[in-house]
Amino acid sequence: MNVVVVTSEYAPYAKSGGLADAVAAISRSMARRGHRVRAILPRYYSIDRGQLTPDPVPLPVPGPGGTEPARIYRSVDSGVEMLFVDFEPLFGRDGIYGSRPDDAFADNLARFAFFARAALATVDRLSAQGEPDILHVHDWPAALVPVLLRANGAARTARVVLTIHNAGYQGAFPIGELGATGIDGKRAGRLGLVYNDTVNLLRAGVTCADAVTTVSPTHAEELLREETSFGLHSVLSERTRPLQGILNGIDTTEWDPAGDPYIAMNFDARDRSGKAACKRALQREFGLPDDPAVPVIGQVTRLVEQKGIGPLFGPGYGSAFRICSDLPVQWIILGSGAAWCEDEIAALARRLANLRGRIGYDEALAHRIEAGADIFLMPSLYEPCGLNQMYSMRYGTVPIAPRTGGLADTVREDRGFIIDRVTPESIFDAVARATRTYRNAPELFAALSARGMEADFSWDRSAADYEALFHALAGR
Ligand code: ADP
Repeated sequence: MNVVVVTSEYAPYAKSGGLADAVAAISRSMARRGHRVRAILPRYYSIDRGQLTPDPVPLPVPGPGGTEPARIYRSVDSGVEMLFVDFEPLFGRDGIYGSRPDDAFADNLARFAFFARAALATVDRLSAQGEPDILHVHDWPAALVPVLLRANGAARTARVVLTIHNAGYQGAFPIGELGATGIDGKRAGRLGLVYNDTVNLLRAGVTCADAVTTVSPTHAEELLREETSFGLHSVLSERTRPLQGILNGIDTTEWDPAGDPYIAMNFDARDRSGKAACKRALQREFGLPDDPAVPVIGQVTRLVEQKGIGPLFGPGYGSAFRICSDLPVQWIILGSGAAWCEDEIAALARRLANLRGRIGYDEALAHRIEAGADIFLMPSLYEPCGLNQMYSMRYGTVPIAPRTGGLADTVREDRGFIIDRVTPESIFDAVARATRTYRNAPELFAALSARGMEADFSWDRSAADYEALFHALAGR
C-alpha cells in the first residue's frame, strides 16, 4: 500500500510530546511491513536544511491570498521517506506551535492551513508516481486535509484516516480568521468547520475524514461519552464508520533498558542489577543520598493541567508538599510548561530536601529518570494513550496512574498503583501505598516491577490494526 502521513510532529525532527513518538513509530512500522510510507511535515527552523535534499523546483501552494512558493526538502528515516515543507514566513521560527510550551503563535490557523494546502500540493506531486491509497493525518494541525479535499470536491481515490491523539487541543480559532482556510462561510458550516461561532479544525476533520481513530480503546469510549468527549461526542457518534481505538505502542529499540546508551548500566528482566546502579547514578546526579531503602519517584511531563499539575502542585492545596514531608521518598521532576507550575516546583525544591526539579526538555535525562526511578507518577486528568507509563514499565519502574484512557488500558493493579480520583488526597494515598509496598513488601513490589517489564508494549499489534483498517478502506 501507498501511505502518505501528514503531521506537525515526527520524532526526532520535531517533538513537543507523545504525538511525535507515536506518528514516527506508526509510520516506521508500516514501512517495515512492506508499505511505501512518506511523511510530510513543516520544515521548522530547528530542522537543519543542510542535512536534507531540496527538490529542484519550488512547490506552488495556492491559497486565499494567491499562490505562494514553498519548497520540498527530502530525507529518509528508518524506511520512511520524509518530505519537509519549507516556507520561511510561517515556519522559519523557533517552536512548533509557539515559542514556549504554554504559548501559541498568533497566526497558527494561517500556518497550519498553509501546511494542509502544501501537503495536498505535495500529494499532487507524489501522485505522478502513483496515487496514494491512504492519507493518514494526525490531530488538529493536519485535520484540514480531509476538509480541503471535501471543499474542493477533489477526485482523489485516496482515503483519509484522521487519528486523534489529543482531543483537548482542537485547533479552535476566532471566526474572524476563517478566511485563512480559504473556505467560505457557507461551505465551512456544512463541513463542520464552524461550530459555536469558532473555527474548529479537529471537528471539521472528524466530519470529513473517511475513518477516525484514537490512540486507545478506553479513550475511544470516552470520546463517545458527552462528559469526556471535549464536545466531540455528537459529531463522532454521527459517523457511519465508528471511531476506533488502537492502542499506541512504544519504540522498543529507543526505549530498551538492555541497550539504552543514555543510562548508567544496562539491565533486563532476567538481570536487574543494572537498575540499582541507574538509581544510584540518578540520586548522585541530583545530589540526593544514595539510600536504596528510599524509593525514588520520577516524573517526566509537560507541565499542563491535563497532567494533573493542579492537584499536585497547586499552591496551597496540591499534594506535593505533603508527599515530600510525610513520606520517605525522593522525587525527581523533569518538565516544562505553565510558568506558575515551573515557579512552584522551584519554590518547593528550595524548601524540601527530597524534591528536585529540572525545568526544561531533556531526552537523555528522561531515559535516566525512567531507568533510575522506582516509581513513576502520572496523575493525568485524562490521557488518550500516554507513553511514559509504558516506558516506565519496560524499565521496571512501577507506575502510579488513574484509570483513564490509555492509562486504564496499560496500568493494571498487578503492575502498578491506581489513583482512584485525581484529587490531592487520592494522589497522596496512592503514593503512600506505593511507598509502603516498596518498604514493607519488597517481594510484592519487585513482582509488580517484573510484570511490567514482561508486558509487550511493542507496535506489532497496533500496526496490524492500522494495516487492517487501511486495507479495508482501500478496498483490498
Ligand atoms: P503527551 O504527549 O501528552 O505529552 P505522552 O506520555 O504521550 O504525553 O508523551 C510524552 C512524551 O514526551 C514522552 O516521550 C516523554 O518522555 C516526553 N517528554 C515530555 N516532557 C519531557 C521533558 N521535559 N523532557 C524530555 N522528554 C519529555
